[in-house]
Amino acid sequence: NDASTVFDLVILGGGSGGYAAALRGAQLGLDVALIEKNKLGGTCLHNGCIPTKALLHAGEVADQSRESEQFGVKTSFEGVDMAGVHKYKDEVIAGLYKGLQGLVASRKITYIEGEGRLSSPTSVDVNGQRVQGRHVLLATGSVPKTLPGLEIDGNRIISSDHALTLDRVPKSAIVLGGGVIGVEFASAWKSFGSEVTVIEGLKHLVPVEDENSSKLLERAFRKRGIKFNLGTFFQKAEYTQDGVKVTLADGKEFEAEVLLVAIGRGPVSQGLGYEENGVAMDRGFVLVDEYMRTNVPTISAVGDLVPTLQLAHVGFAEGILVAERLAGLKTVPVDYDGVPRVTYCHPEVASVGLTEAKAKEVYGADKVVSIKFPLGGNGKSRILKTAGEIKLVQVKDGAVVGVHMVGDRMGEQVGEAQLIYNWEALPAEVAQLIHAHPTQNEALGEAHLALAGKPLHMH
Ligand code: FAD
Repeated sequence: NDASTVFDLVILGGGSGGYAAALRGAQLGLDVALIEKNKLGGTCLHNGCIPTKALLHAGEVADQSRESEQFGVKTSFEGVDMAGVHKYKDEVIAGLYKGLQGLVASRKITYIEGEGRLSSPTSVDVNGQRVQGRHVLLATGSVPKTLPGLEIDGNRIISSDHALTLDRVPKSAIVLGGGVIGVEFASAWKSFGSEVTVIEGLKHLVPVEDENSSKLLERAFRKRGIKFNLGTFFQKAEYTQDGVKVTLADGKEFEAEVLLVAIGRGPVSQGLGYEENGVAMDRGFVLVDEYMRTNVPTISAVGDLVPTLQLAHVGFAEGILVAERLAGLKTVPVDYDGVPRVTYCHPEVASVGLTEAKAKEVYGADKVVSIKFPLGGNGKSRILKTAGEIKLVQVKDGAVVGVHMVGDRMGEQVGEAQLIYNWEALPAEVAQLIHAHPTQNEALGEAHLALAGKPLHMH
């Protein structure tokens, strides 16, 4: 391609949203240019989903070797070697990165490494050149946020980016923010041997989840010795001789070696020519309709840059939607309520659909029922020695509108849970499906048996 080439689609940002659009667009015959300033794969592959899950798995191995005697196996746990953990994590990333690069090359996508800027509604400038397209997709993602006066120094006050490459296990850590990113690091660090305190201004950990899930997670964290302070907001952080001191709005103080700021992520949209080209924005997010179209007819936007759920699989779905729409296929909007959510701490929290509180708001309090199946009644969970619960939220005599699960490996159950939710299955229909024994998946079946009025391993 030379300077006169007009691509069908020019994509700015090669993370989950951007690369999914590129791969699907190319598959459908679009001529695609993909511009990325850093590394193909973006946050999820290099600084998000994949590295955190590798750390959490290393933490699980540490816990298991520490606690192996409960299974009758003698081991001696000598500690965690972070260099070794990083080697393992980086190998996982490298393998996936190579695979992704191969896919982009084999689908004949024009990959351009460089920092791009929207120069008109149909072009992006990068490396001193103008890349022209019939359509432009903005997918520049997000970066960690902080609070005014709370400066991230990368050493003692850190973001998730730094936490992923920390060369040591901190003796103690304060995690500011009890959302998904915060509790995942709290969980991994505790497994590695740190003293961890989570500070959350709202009343519960993982506050977007069903209150029952939050309470179960809090109980499990308490048992693991992870401390947390709920319901009071952060006021300030100061350096001490060898760490950081955090003061809350009520005057309470906490000290630790490091402070991880995990209060959320903000969109990458400043100075990239979006506003100058008339793209409507709100607090840095690019506004889109349900087909991911901005107000400028030739420009779409997806992923963490738009104000929808900040999840990699949401970015994939939005990117695919744009590619299919531009290729002339019939598309349907993403159903955000039907998106599975997993928090991969120990124990895991997984859900799909509405919380009980939300369901009551939508359908009326007297129209909603719920049931809980404790994992203590599930053989495989007992074998794994994991506690937790599966909770179902149902519209009385109707479909299951929420599935909320807590327990190790519950993330792997969310696939069936989302089919149940998305197909608006009735409990009696799911109760008819045979779940293999003994699996943790069986617990989901048992919960539906109970809801259908024929509990098997439950009173
Ligand atoms: P990004 O992945 O951020 O990609 C944007 C890309 O655009 C980047 O590669 C960036 O370099 C590039 N870019 C930006 N500006 C320019 C420019 N001017 N020119 C060229 N390129 C540019 N989600 C899950 O679903 N599951 C998880 O388990 C999970 N865990 C997470 C753990 C952590 C610690 C974090 C931080 C996030 C996690 N996420 C998880 C969220 C997930 O990573 C994001 O939702 C996803 O990466 C968003 O994709 P995106 O394409 O919108 O943005």
